[in-house]
Amino acid sequence: MQTHQKLLNSINQFTAALSTYLFIERCRICDVFIHSDSANAAICRRCLSRLVQEPIVSEFPIDDQNLLQVTSATTYDARMKTLIYKLKYDGDQLIARDLATLMKPALTQIIAAHNTGTNDRENRNRLVLLPIPLSRWRSMQRGFNQSTIIAKELGSTFGLQTNNRFLKRPKHTKPQHDLRKSDRNSNLIDAFACSNKRKESPSRDDSLILLDDICTSGATLVEAAKALRHYGFKNIQAVTASRALLDLDKSKGLTRLHPSGRFVDSSNKPLLRHNIS
Ligand SMILES: [Zn+2]
Repeated sequence: MQTHQKLLNSINQFTAALSTYLFIERCRICDVFIHSDSANAAICRRCLSRLVQEPIVSEFPIDDQNLLQVTSATTYDARMKTLIYKLKYDGDQLIARDLATLMKPALTQIIAAHNTGTNDRENRNRLVLLPIPLSRWRSMQRGFNQSTIIAKELGSTFGLQTNNRFLKRPKHTKPQHDLRKSDRNSNLIDAFACSNKRKESPSRDDSLILLDDICTSGATLVEAAKALRHYGFKNIQAVTASRALLDLDKSKGLTRLHPSGRFVDSSNKPLLRHNIS
């Protein structure tokens, strides 16, 4: 029996190695065989094109005067749930490349809003991607940070700096999705800090773009933004691969998005930002 199992394992390893060599993968959504090339890695073109949508913009209060604008590439639906689960919990890192592809329109929108038209190259040099860090414990458990992989992929595509050293997560927190909405904010208090090493710090004039896989209540991104503001950074926004609208759907009966990407109620009035949670 043991010999049989060993043989089976060897065959599986050989098949996996051969598939990698031939760049053959199975689509993580519909399971068809795909040729994984530079354009797509783990999702077939058909599924990838179906996931593409207008970026969703949400705003969350950082404090009494400042809002954090979050631009999300897709709605968090069953397909995105599958992809993010496989990436984070099955260690399927190839998916990160496709999430980066999906996030290009959202990042393009942020860059376009940032550019003034006078010196776009210089402006772009002032944009820095900051992946949301994992705690040391989570990092050891998972072995990689999915947001860092996505940020590096997007950074090289758009020619943006990626800084994964400055923002730290000294406190180990429970996963946000395991908590009730009322406990999500308190779970993250003092979760983030910034490095004291000058060489690891972006310039105070830089515009920082926090990057995460999913935005649900916005609490994680807001806490990270608070830590950055505490260190004197003023221009902070965020980009995520997906936006969970579940809370919003349940509590506000929403709805739909205005062509601008902003949330509107049924009479086309912009939804109050504090209602978006
Ligand atoms: Zn597919």
